[in-house]
Amino acid sequence: MIPSLPVTEPLPVFPYHPDPVGTGAIIQSDAECSCCSRARGYIYTGPVYAVENLSGRLCPWCIADGSAAERFEALFTDVLDDIPVDRLFAITQRTPGFSGWQQERWLVHCGDGAAFLGTVGAAELTDHPEAWASLREELGHGPWSLSQAEQYLKALTKSGQPTAYLFRCRACGSHLAYSDAT
Ligand SMILES: [Zn+2]
Ligand SMILES: [Zn+2]
Repeated sequence: MIPSLPVTEPLPVFPYHPDPVGTGAIIQSDAECSCCSRARGYIYTGPVYAVENLSGRLCPWCIADGSAAERFEALFTDVLDDIPVDRLFAITQRTPGFSGWQQERWLVHCGDGAAFLGTVGAAELTDHPEAWASLREELGHGPWSLSQAEQYLKALTKSGQPTAYLFRCRACGSHLAYSDAT
C-alpha cells in the first residue's frame, strides 16, 4: 500500500475574490496562521487593518469563515460605497484584500461589491473595452488633458506602475476598473 502524502485542503471559495492565488493575495507558504495556529500550506499576503500586525500571518480558511476578522477585529479592505451591511461584512471581513499603490478601493456595481480579478495593464484592458471606457471617463474628470489621459492609459502595466485594478460585477457581469490616478 502506498502511504498517502499530506493532502492540502482545497482553498475556500471567495465570491468577491475568485482567484486569490492568481492575484498574489494568497501564496503557498509553510507559515503558521496566528488565528488557528496551524501551518496549512497557504498564507494571506494582503493588507490587514487591525491593532496587531498580522501581515503574512493569516491563513485563507480563517479569513473565509470570519474567525480572523472576529478574533482580531481585523478588516482586509475598505468599501466606501453604500451597500447592504451583510455584503459589506462579507467583503471587508471574509474576503482577502489586495495591495494597491494608494489606499485600495473595492468597486461596487449593481448594489453589490464586484469580484476583484487582479491588476491589469493596457494590454489586458483591450479585452475589456467597458473597463477601459470607465477608466477614460474617470480620467476625463481629472486635471489632465485628453492626450495626457490617453498616454497614461497606454502606459498602464500589469505588474508595475502605473497599474489598474480590474473587477467584474457579480450581477451583470460587466468589467470595471480603476487605477491609482483615477
Ligand atoms: Zn488559520
Ligand atoms: Zn453590474
